[in-house]
Amino acid sequence: MAKVSIIVPCFNEEEALPLFFSATKKATSKIPAEIEYWFIDDGSKDKTLSIIQKLRTQNDQGVHFISFSRNFGKEAAMYAGLQAATGDYVAIMDADLQDPPELLQQMYVLLKNDQYDCVGARRISRTGEGKLKSFFAKLFYTIINCVSDTKIVPDVRDFRMMTRKFVDSVLQLPEYHRFSKGIFSWVGFKTKYLTYSNRNRVAGNSHWSIWGLFRYALDGIIDFSAAPLSLAIWLGLGSAFISFVGLIVVIIRHFVNPQASAFGWSSLVCILLMISGVQLFCLGIAGKYIGRIYLQAKHRPVYIVKSKK
Ligand code: UDP
Ligand code: MG
Repeated sequence: MAKVSIIVPCFNEEEALPLFFSATKKATSKIPAEIEYWFIDDGSKDKTLSIIQKLRTQNDQGVHFISFSRNFGKEAAMYAGLQAATGDYVAIMDADLQDPPELLQQMYVLLKNDQYDCVGARRISRTGEGKLKSFFAKLFYTIINCVSDTKIVPDVRDFRMMTRKFVDSVLQLPEYHRFSKGIFSWVGFKTKYLTYSNRNRVAGNSHWSIWGLFRYALDGIIDFSAAPLSLAIWLGLGSAFISFVGLIVVIIRHFVNPQASAFGWSSLVCILLMISGVQLFCLGIAGKYIGRIYLQAKHRPVYIVKSKK
């Protein structure tokens, strides 16, 4: 019989977990396969770990967990789950029931029939989400798809089921800064997206602030594109061109109206400030990439395990 692993990254999900488990258990009972759960406790400060342990004792087999020594982030939790999962098919789901468990069966059938290597889920509506968040999400997908060769399908969540071949390919990318949306697309294969309307969390709060999402978006762009580095070249060329035109204007004015040349100091200060601003901006972009090389060169593990069962 085939085996399906379900990876669930959990960070302070004590309220949502029991609801998640009963709903998912009900949905997976229709799948003719052995089900294995991998709950990844991402350094939760509440009772998440003890709830997972309780689920484990109540369901003697099939419930496993990895507990991190601190909060390493959802990307690290998903990576740990993918490394631990032993199933022929592997699914990733959030603990808050925003990912509908009913889709699992459909995903399994599509994979089992060898039609696809990965079946993901795409939200077709963002009702219940803030207007500002939706606006920035749209902007992010537009920008990243302009600058990156890896296509990132808009509104796709991390919720997906993959074949063993697909998972092994994802695990071949041992990068420290993981941007899964990009990695899943980068490995290739045939992916199908099921659509569904947005759902709100069953309990608890989202762990994302607007600032956190902004940093995540910036990380994604830097991880999957070198275009920001080329921006320095274009900004440099642009300002060189403008200063060349300005120089010609100054020379001509010197001959036409010699007195006017003495009154240029305030505009000079503005131009100096602007150019040094552009230089610092470009240095900052280069610094972001160097920072990544620095951290990757240290070969630090993506996460540290405190306990695993
Ligand atoms: N999560 C995690 N580590 C974190 C933040 C979140 O493992 O540092 C988990 C969280 O428990 C949930 C999933 O990632 O299962 C998605 O988190 P959340 O619901 O906050 O994100 P959103 O759905 O708002 O994008
Ligand atoms: Mg959520």
